[in-house]
Amino acid sequence: MPQKGSAVFVSVLLLITFISAAAAAFTLAGPPAPPPGRFAEESAGSAGEKAAVEPAISSLRPGEIALLKVVCPQGARLTLENGAGSREIPLVGGRALLNIPVTEKAGMIKLVLCDDSGTLFEETLEIAERAFGSQKLSAGASGLQTPSSEDYALYNAKVAGARAESAGEPLWQEEGFVLPLFGRVTTEFACHRYIGGEFSSRHSGVDIAAPAGTEVVAAARGIVTLAEFLPVTGNTVIIDHGMGLFSLYGHLQSLSAVKGGEVAAGQVIGRVGSTGFSTGPHLHLTFTAHGEMCDPFQLVPRP
Ligand SMILES: [Zn+2]
Repeated sequence: MPQKGSAVFVSVLLLITFISAAAAAFTLAGPPAPPPGRFAEESAGSAGEKAAVEPAISSLRPGEIALLKVVCPQGARLTLENGAGSREIPLVGGRALLNIPVTEKAGMIKLVLCDDSGTLFEETLEIAERAFGSQKLSAGASGLQTPSSEDYALYNAKVAGARAESAGEPLWQEEGFVLPLFGRVTTEFACHRYIGGEFSSRHSGVDIAAPAGTEVVAAARGIVTLAEFLPVTGNTVIIDHGMGLFSLYGHLQSLSAVKGGEVAAGQVIGRVGSTGFSTGPHLHLTFTAHGEMCDPFQLVPRP
């Protein structure tokens, strides 16, 4: 997906830009924290300019994302290379959403922009060490029925369908991100879950407990791609924020979002409940970039 237009030079501007009027709502969780100024900078290259990364991202942690601004010839490809292989990061309209999977090992990785003529730009990033916790659940003791493999298959198919297409621009930029509801964080992002003593899965998002009926709002502007009851996450809303970034809100008591509708950051999309595979009223909030879970608290403030 090369950029439209006739730019014949390469200038890569890395912009972790969840910048906007609502920039205060965006936080980059945990060390190493970059200087705040770099989130608000954007400088355009000019024809003939040497390939560059401005400002350079020196480090990201597993589960983090960054919006890159890329100016490059048509047909150029952006790839991320670690010791084990390489992965292409889609270029859309002169931008790319870089995501670091939670399974990425600490160490150095390379961001490479190339076309048929060879390497146009290259930068090395450090992936910092990051530990994720674990949580034990006793589904049986609470009388809760663990979803069947058929339930999971239906759930996965529905969710994949809702994330199959994403807008070609960052819809969140003007309004920024907001916390969908205040409450107590009961399960952290990416922690390993054990149900009845057996490893179940990695928790794809965060759980925020709040009284049943509490309003839940959209974390950012976007298009609703799913609003229905699903096995596993019960009443669920999925929102496309563009560039391959989606948010998912699960276990809702009721839904007020409609599939296909546009929502603004802070717009009510449903109410807290305990539908689906849930032991009590809470919101399950997941963000994914290119299908990989990413840390909600990099984007929305921690309650
Ligand atoms: Zn959850």
